[in-house]
Amino acid sequence: MFGKPKKAHQWRGVINEYFSRLDVDKSTPIITLGEGGTPLVPAPALAKLVGADRVYLKFEGMNPTGSFKDRGMTMAVSKAVGHGARAVICASTGNTSASAAAYAAAAGIKSVVLVPEGKITLGKLSQAVAHKAQILQVQGNFDDCLTLARDLSDNYPVHLVNSVNPDRIEGQKTAAFEVVDALGQGPDIHVLPVGNAGNYSAYFKGYQEDFKVRRIKKLPKMYGYQAEGSAPFVQGSPVKNPETIATAIRIGNPASWDLAQIAREKSQGKFGAVSDKEILWMHRFLSQELGVFVEPSSATGAAGLYKASKTGESFAGALIVVTVTGHGLKDPMWALKDEAGNEITPEAVSTNAAEVAERLGLA
Ligand SMILES: *Cc1c(COP(=O)(O)O)cnc(C)c1O
Repeated sequence: MFGKPKKAHQWRGVINEYFSRLDVDKSTPIITLGEGGTPLVPAPALAKLVGADRVYLKFEGMNPTGSFKDRGMTMAVSKAVGHGARAVICASTGNTSASAAAYAAAAGIKSVVLVPEGKITLGKLSQAVAHKAQILQVQGNFDDCLTLARDLSDNYPVHLVNSVNPDRIEGQKTAAFEVVDALGQGPDIHVLPVGNAGNYSAYFKGYQEDFKVRRIKKLPKMYGYQAEGSAPFVQGSPVKNPETIATAIRIGNPASWDLAQIAREKSQGKFGAVSDKEILWMHRFLSQELGVFVEPSSATGAAGLYKASKTGESFAGALIVVTVTGHGLKDPMWALKDEAGNEITPEAVSTNAAEVAERLGLA
């Protein structure tokens, strides 16, 4: 399936692994936490569900801070340090701040993160705190935070590391390289959740570069899915007050709007939207049927793929890769609720084996 095993080696992070294919040179100080090299997990249950030949999950929750943001952050922080930056700033729904804070700590510089008030998950906030970021909760949504971060970096000595910084996209394109390395070809379709569309654009850039050097014969169709209450690409214009439980993609005015439109068009891909209920259903399916625990936002791509299959699109014979963007431990509360939304608490039992066996239905 994956070809011959290579000689074991310690993965050195995306800059070292793809040095010649990134915008870096010998003078770039490499700030890495060993990001990238994430598993491409076979997902037969999902393939069966959508009627595809093969489906794989690119499990980006396995990055050092638990999301794909680390791929871009190693580049952005390395380049910032190379330019003499002493502080980085970002707006974030959570994962960018966790990543920026960790890479800034590794680089020995300061990080400032702007998050929307009350809208960041506990796991992500704890990471930014742990890595000693200066955290400010802004009275506004993500889009307001980004405007503020841009303003500050334009006028004060602090370096912006949001995905409007091209170094981020550059680092994130390595995920596409890894998919091709693992499969020995490109997928027919690549599916992922879309917020600012930086990642959607980054994968397309990676595949395009692989196409140019003939590592793949055709460009995968890029399928990007948003949450219904936060679906500017589906609507065709920015959404003023985006709403969804999928906080990582709760973005009304995507920063990579133009890049994403080009990627969709050139790849003959599409955008779609799914409801929060469909996202949570898939979140549960991935953890229960495949053993892959992701945060709800990360299930959005797979939820969109399932919806497409249910509404008549045929995936017969297709090889599909679905990026699951962040780890389930980022936002664990969703796993602790049943389908009706009731809290799940493990049953209490005595230490008597016979009684426990009976409760377990073993006796
Ligand atoms: C950032 C993020 C996204 C959205 O990625 P964009 O590049 O903004 O489209 C999706 N899922 C998770 C877990 C994220 O952290």
